[in-house]
Amino acid sequence: YQSKLPNVGTTIFTVMGNLAQNHKALNLSQGFPNFKSDQKLIDLVTNAMNSGYNQYAPMAGNLELRVAITNKFEKLYNSSYHPDSEITMTAGATQAIFTIISTFIKPEDEVLIFRPAYDCYEPAIELNGGKTISVQLEAPHYAVDWAAVSKKINSKTKMVIINTPQNPSGTVFSKADMLQLQDLLKGTDIILLSDEVYEHIIFDDKKHQSACLFPDLKSRSFVVASFGKTFHNTGWKLGYCCAPKALMAEFQKVHQFNVFCVNHPMQKALADYLQEPEHYLKLSAFYQRKRDLFLSLIKDSRFKFTPAQGAYFQILDYSNINMENDLDFAKRLTIDHKIAAIPLSVFNADNLDHKVLRFCFAKTDDTLKKAADILNSI
Ligand code: PMP
Ligand code: GLN
Repeated sequence: YQSKLPNVGTTIFTVMGNLAQNHKALNLSQGFPNFKSDQKLIDLVTNAMNSGYNQYAPMAGNLELRVAITNKFEKLYNSSYHPDSEITMTAGATQAIFTIISTFIKPEDEVLIFRPAYDCYEPAIELNGGKTISVQLEAPHYAVDWAAVSKKINSKTKMVIINTPQNPSGTVFSKADMLQLQDLLKGTDIILLSDEVYEHIIFDDKKHQSACLFPDLKSRSFVVASFGKTFHNTGWKLGYCCAPKALMAEFQKVHQFNVFCVNHPMQKALADYLQEPEHYLKLSAFYQRKRDLFLSLIKDSRFKFTPAQGAYFQILDYSNINMENDLDFAKRLTIDHKIAAIPLSVFNADNLDHKVLRFCFAKTDDTLKKAADILNSI
């Protein structure tokens, strides 16, 4: 057979996760919390199962949950998405992203992404015959050069994908960034896929600039979210996307035959849990404390850093330590020093050689202290 993805191997998350396990290393590679989510939420799942939420959910998702999401957008962004026609629950953000790309991208269409970029965008574009066009964000601040973006937008551009707060760099788009993007897209029919899975994890009093806050962006956007990131249960694989009715109708044509609907009892539990906004509003402070703890513990190490502005990853620059390429260094750290991280080159085009690794700080304080002890000894 002929592979449709000849250049794609096993994801770095599997590679580093397996290496960490085989070498009994502290695993700060794949992004997942190593602590339990709220017992109250887990009890709500049991309640939902005991109350009969065990058959198919409606295709778009449990209605109570869609209403809770509508309420959240109104409360946080003063932005309205109709629960009947503008919200769909998905199997994690990943399925939302894959389905959005499959719904709209045809052979030869160009999709613009910002690198370093989360790794699920490009294979989905390629599978649909599209072409990935990259704009590189430069270390250490990973800020956007909008003039460079402007040069890459043309009549073939069908979609732009943004991710703020960004995985892996921890950069956050400002209001000025979003306004620049809005200006650039004006007068085009380019679709915006706004990956906002870390919307509730943003630091130093920065405000999340959702695409839904900008009317000319909202009208062309899918906003994508993930409960795995928000409520510490990445294994539940529950996410959603919101978009204006006409875009969502196209999305649902594909979604209904891709998965039809996603798991029901957890949707019911999340609908109940979202009744208390405090559950997501406290998340930024929770993770900022972890970022600050981790960085204060390694401030005298030989690693250099610029604090992440959002998400739960910290980039560490190891150019003071050696000049190995990042994949070799990440493997050696795991095998010799018993700590696993993600080499950033996998998120870049042309395997840019930046001497940086990504560490996940969604970990218990004890794990962060053990990690710091190792990093300080290198
Ligand atoms: N987008 C980004 C930027 C992510 O970091 C992740 C998860 N690592 C996803 C999407 C996928 O989220 P989910 O696990 O809900 O599929
Ligand atoms: N989003 C997670 C990360 O960036 C990984 C999810 C996955 O394994 N695909 O680490």
